Amino acid sequence: MIPYVNEYDTPECNTLAETAKKSVRTPASLGLDRCIQCGACTASCPAARFTDYNPRQIVKKVLENDRSVLESEMIWSCFYCYSCNLRCPRNNSPVTIVQVLRQMAINHGIGVEKLVYFLEIGEYLAEKGASKVPGAGIKNMERDLGERWIRIKKNLESTRVELGLSSRDVRNTHGEVQAILEATGYFEREKWFKAKIQEKRSHQLLKNKCIKKENKSGDFGFESDREYPGQPAFTI
Ligand code: SF4
Ligand code: SF4
Repeated sequence: MIPYVNEYDTPECNTLAETAKKSVRTPASLGLDRCIQCGACTASCPAARFTDYNPRQIVKKVLENDRSVLESEMIWSCFYCYSCNLRCPRNNSPVTIVQVLRQMAINHGIGVEKLVYFLEIGEYLAEKGASKVPGAGIKNMERDLGERWIRIKKNLESTRVELGLSSRDVRNTHGEVQAILEATGYFEREKWFKAKIQEKRSHQLLKNKCIKKENKSGDFGFESDREYPGQPAFTI
């Protein structure tokens, strides 16, 4: 079992909706039961624009107590911009519900491989006391935003100097961030995640070998990552 499963974060309840409503992650005024399935969340969601991710559908599955949503690739497409939270006419918050669903999935060992991205942030935070965009995110940004963005990034320091801004520096937190991470069990969880990810990868490797042998296709519980549909992103 994952260390430090937090009963306030993902309380044990009979339904997904109850867990979402009781979780500390969602506001007390959460309008989950008042959702009218209007789709304003999906219409305002940048992830929905570029993939077949659909926050309205996630809310529907939660209201129907359809636990298959925990295994869906969908819950991993949100990037917490909170547009849905802002636009919902019923004070519902698909983004915080997604956070609860992700944690529930992880509690059951589902989707741990998705955490590779976040572990990179955690490692950096522990070491430098600051956040960062993981390598995979940078690669995607280079792909989506193009040469001009790459140039801006490369010349960031000199541009800051030109504008009279101080040089970016990493704060010396004197070990305070590490102490917080230690006290809250982060490092123990990190160890658990890494072992689980490794286990899944080995399982996947073995499965791929078997599939190759039998010359037939299959999947590993998750839909494969969707192809980028090629809609051009704006260029800065
Ligand atoms: S915007 Fe709010 S009310 Fe409309 S579908 Fe989304 S969660 Fe439901
Ligand atoms: S927070 Fe997530 S679900 Fe909400 S609009 Fe942004 S990407 Fe979409």
